[in-house]
Amino acid sequence: MSGKGLPAPFDSLVVATRNGHKLREFGEAMQGVHLDPLPEEVALPPEDGETFAENALVKARTAATAAGRPALADDSGIEAAALGGLPGVRSARYAGEDATDQANLDKLIGALAGEDDRRVAYVCALALVTPDGSEWVVEGRCEGELVDVPRGSGGFGYDPAFVPSEGDGVRTMAELTPDEKHAISHRGVAIAALQNLLEGEGR
Ligand code: IMP
Repeated sequence: MSGKGLPAPFDSLVVATRNGHKLREFGEAMQGVHLDPLPEEVALPPEDGETFAENALVKARTAATAAGRPALADDSGIEAAALGGLPGVRSARYAGEDATDQANLDKLIGALAGEDDRRVAYVCALALVTPDGSEWVVEGRCEGELVDVPRGSGGFGYDPAFVPSEGDGVRTMAELTPDEKHAISHRGVAIAALQNLLEGEGR
């Protein structure tokens, strides 16, 4: 993933996020693309959509309009099969409105305690929006299992308890190198899908 960018009109983007971890991961996974954080004064709308795609689009539209530049937004989360897909779009607020990553992770581990079905999936919707109203939305998934004892210090969020199916089946996302994570993660898959979509349109 590293080293692959986006075509020329999109080689400089504003990223509609307040999450420093996501900004870092986009920088690592989209080398050659100049990424600016969303200016402090731009307020992002509440994430009250029913789907990741809806939320990503609203954030990217807000940023593109405010900044007058193409904007990229990600809405992502984790779905647990045993919980019917929860916490899903509510992953960032699973343990409460201003919950920390640690509190959200602890709550999910607690919710799956004693549960045989450990299957989880990361989902990432990625929206690219230009100020003149062109829009692209893609989605990436990454399947895995949730362990009940977190391990590793890389990544963020639910990573210390997420063992991806495509990895070695042992290490959690937080134990992978950044390049290993981006090669298989929901965000990495979505970035590759966006690159392919734009290339397919001859951009
Ligand atoms: P959003 O800002 O609404 O997209 O929140 C995403 C939520 O999903 C946060 O709780 C993140 O911690 C979690 N999340 C998203 N991507 C990842 C990831 O790559 N690793 C771990 N947790 C993630």
